[in-house]
Amino acid sequence: MALQAKNQAGRKTIAILGAGINGAALARELLISGVSVAVIDAADIAAGATAWSTRLVHGGLRYLEYGEVELVRESLVERDRLVRLAPHLVRPLEFYLPVRTRLGGMAAAAARLLGCESLARAWQGTRGRGSWTVGMGLRLYDQLPGGSGWPRHRMVRASAGGMPAVDSTAFPLAGLYWDAQLLYPERFTVELLVDARRAAAETGAEFRVFTHHRCRLDGDGMLLVEPVAGDARGAAVRIEPAAVVNATGAWVDRTLAEALPKVLSGRLIGGTKGSHLLVRSAPLRAALGDRGIYAEAADGRPVFVLPFGDRLVLVGTTDLPFSGDPDDARTDEAEIDYLLGAVAGILPTVAASRDDVVQHYCGVRPLPFVSREGGTPASITRRHMLVRHADALPPCWSIVGGKLTTCRSLAETAAAELLGRLGIEVGGSSRDRPMPGWSAGLPAVEAAAREQAVAAGLPEDVAARLARHAVGLYGARAVDVCAAIRSAVRSPPGMDSGGLSHAGQALISDVEVPKSAVAWSVREEWATRLEDVVERRLMLVFDERLSRRSLEDIAAVLVGEGVLEKERAAAEVETVAARLRQRYGKTLEGTSA
Ligand SMILES: Cc1cc2nc3c(=O)[nH]c(=O)nc-3n(C[C@H](O)[C@H](O)[C@H](O)COP(=O)(O)OP(=O)(O)OC[C@H]3O[C@@H](n4cnc5c(N)ncnc54)[C@H](O)[C@@H]3O)c2cc1C
Repeated sequence: MALQAKNQAGRKTIAILGAGINGAALARELLISGVSVAVIDAADIAAGATAWSTRLVHGGLRYLEYGEVELVRESLVERDRLVRLAPHLVRPLEFYLPVRTRLGGMAAAAARLLGCESLARAWQGTRGRGSWTVGMGLRLYDQLPGGSGWPRHRMVRASAGGMPAVDSTAFPLAGLYWDAQLLYPERFTVELLVDARRAAAETGAEFRVFTHHRCRLDGDGMLLVEPVAGDARGAAVRIEPAAVVNATGAWVDRTLAEALPKVLSGRLIGGTKGSHLLVRSAPLRAALGDRGIYAEAADGRPVFVLPFGDRLVLVGTTDLPFSGDPDDARTDEAEIDYLLGAVAGILPTVAASRDDVVQHYCGVRPLPFVSREGGTPASITRRHMLVRHADALPPCWSIVGGKLTTCRSLAETAAAELLGRLGIEVGGSSRDRPMPGWSAGLPAVEAAAREQAVAAGLPEDVAARLARHAVGLYGARAVDVCAAIRSAVRSPPGMDSGGLSHAGQALISDVEVPKSAVAWSVREEWATRLEDVVERRLMLVFDERLSRRSLEDIAAVLVGEGVLEKERAAAEVETVAARLRQRYGKTLEGTSA
């Protein structure tokens, strides 16, 4: 029966607009059922909110106060599942939640639970939630996923040994609990699509990914897919979709208006913008150790202070109404002051200064549109919805809201709804399907990747660092990526991505990343632009050593791979250097400010 469904499904293509985490998860889910899929993104894989998030896979403790118990349960179950299925990317992280009082916040929490947000704010006071309120929330948090085997929470005194250096006079007590960190949701999204391609190979369905392409549904129900300006790769394509899913996040309303003009809909999205800072401060980083801090800023908003690799600290986030083009959202100085002020309030002895902020980023949450009377941005639900545009032809749906954490469960429910409406049997599920980089033994993978790098002629210490980084990006696939260094070094000049003659030249200048990984991004992971490689494949955007020379080296490989014209390489380097400055406040060495 399932095979019949697959064959039946194979003839139909579902077009998914948007290759964020939700569009990618849905593509994978449909391909597991043997349905052909075309994913079209106006920019790149994970180029929207997915990349601008706090990078947590979490239940969302504070949503309990808003009575979102089912959302928290679903998120916690998914958190446990993603840690199991993608251990290289989703890693458990212990959180320290400082509190000022024992009894504070109970009346406000009760008001919030009853839906009286304005009363809750009036009763909130400046002392925040007390240890009783926090303890109750954490007890529920422990129980909701149901026998997950994760360590239970503990309430501790701030003066106990080994705790982060919070102001223990202001915050004498704290809750300790576990959630998970997804350092690179960009990589997770790419892997979802890599797995979607594997699922397509298994089921015989067709799978196409168009990045840097725009599309528009015409009156005959055909989708015209065209490369955006400046794309070197070819011609427009026409697809006859069996259904269209608008998974464009904060752009959902714009997409309806511009790409799906025949689909009638009221306003669906009411986004808020959120900014994050990356701070380089050795005392602050040391104060965190292996824990993240989840605290309240002076105005009661949640603030996360998180370890980001060995040297950096990620601080976020703000939550401000935003109605412009999500692509124009930028961190402003007031947000930087606000976030630094919040850190100073929690950790005064290791407070960071403006000079410690090495970069920042900002994005728009794709929240459902609601009238804000009496509410705050924080009170808008983080639940996801699948909106069916009832009269549309071909059938059309929009995804509204959601979290990184629930991308898989959202995809599962959305696939069931879509396939049900199209009369196609669900042929499988991602519930227990490991991600492509999954491994039960990541230390062994790291050792094997290091061996490959050493065999390619790299010094032991460089090979060790490179292997560790590669496992954080690729998991089990790190061995193949590192093996590719060797073949690139051995290939005769003219046959590889730059005619490498010895191992030293195998690395991109100033960063310890092999040039062969750039070629891998193009051949295996749909990268076509310098920006794709830097920001969403090799994650070099977060490498402080990234320089103009690094960009030039990457551009040279892209030329070798045939996705960048040689004459345009220098201009592409300029464009990306300017983008890093404007979008991230990051100035590269050798670039005027
Ligand atoms: C500040 C902030 C912090 C967050 N923190 C967390 C967190 O810690 N944990 C968590 O679970 N969730 C978090 N979230 C929520 C989460 O990031 C988002 O809900 C999720 O990433 C949405 O994914 P998406 O695929 O729906 O949208 P997006 O990731 O925004 O993807 C939409 C895609 O559509 C593309 N697109 C736009 N227009 C078109 C068009 N016309 N045609 C084709 N493609 C188009 C864009 O280029 C983009 O790639 C956070 C969000 C923000 C903004």
